[in-house]
Parts: sequence; C-alpha cells; structure tokens
Amino acid sequence: MHRIFPFSPAYRSTPFQELHTFSQRAELTVCDVCGKNMSIEDGYVLSTRQAATSEAYWEFVFAHRWSSIHDIDPFGGTVAMLTYQQAGQSTGWLVCESCIQLFDVNRAVAKEYARSAASSPSPGGYCPPGGGPVNPQEVALACAKAWKKLYGSWPSSIQRIQ
Ligand SMILES: [Zn+2]
Repeated sequence: MHRIFPFSPAYRSTPFQELHTFSQRAELTVCDVCGKNMSIEDGYVLSTRQAATSEAYWEFVFAHRWSSIHDIDPFGGTVAMLTYQQAGQSTGWLVCESCIQLFDVNRAVAKEYARSAASSPSPGGYCPPGGGPVNPQEVALACAKAWKKLYGSWPSSIQRIQ
C-alpha cells in the first residue's frame, strides 16, 4: 500500500522531476494503480503476484500514470528497475473500484482483505495471504509485453525471453 512508485532511492537519483513530486506524496493513501486518493475501505487489496504479474496492470500504468516514462526513456532502458521494485513489494496493493476491473481476481476476497487492512494497526503494512515479493522475471515479462503492445518494441532493459 502507499505504493508511490517508482520512487526508490535509485529512482530519486534520476533527474526525473515528476518522480520527485510523486515521492513527496508518499503518506497519502492512493490507489496503487491509478494513483487516485482513496480510503482503504473503498478499495480492494491484491497480492504482489496478482497485481505486478498482470500485463493489464502494466499496460494501464504506462498508458496513464506513468506515460511520461516513455517520453523520457523511449527505449525502456529503466523499466527493468521498475519491475524489480514492483516484484519486491512486501505489502498488499490497494486498488480502487475502477482499477479492480483490470484484474482477473475474486473481488469478494480482495474486498475482505481491504477490510482486514483497514482494521489493522498499520494498514499500509498489511500483507494479504499469498502476498509479498515474487520472481522479478515474471513481473518483467508482463511489463515487457505491455510495453511492446503500447510502443511497438521490447524494452531494452528487459531480456527478451520469447
Ligand atoms: Zn485506481
């Protein structure tokens, strides 16, 4: 949750002004997909696997919230770093009512996890069952497929495996 990404220390060292701006919003509760402010109770909580290995997730974020990445980095030289970061997320992913439609998941279960997160002492640290880091290669594959679909070529930083 509070996945104000891609704002790892590595990314903060980049000249991407927009990324600096986002990093200052890290205390807000936002949808981890579209970035909209929201309350946890109104959303769904997914595992890192459910969210980050979804091609639809990557397609959406590259087309919307992170569309500037392609403008700045047209060959995708930095997106492998993004995939590593997303794959390593140890907590649940908060997803809004609109964005949940991107995912082929059991919404009743994801809603229940949102309730559990909201009632936990540290909602941002809540991890749903089956949550936590996943194999970065699975995430990279989903990311690369989405990038190719949107921009026509495989990102240069991700090894082509098919
Ligand atoms: Zn959303």
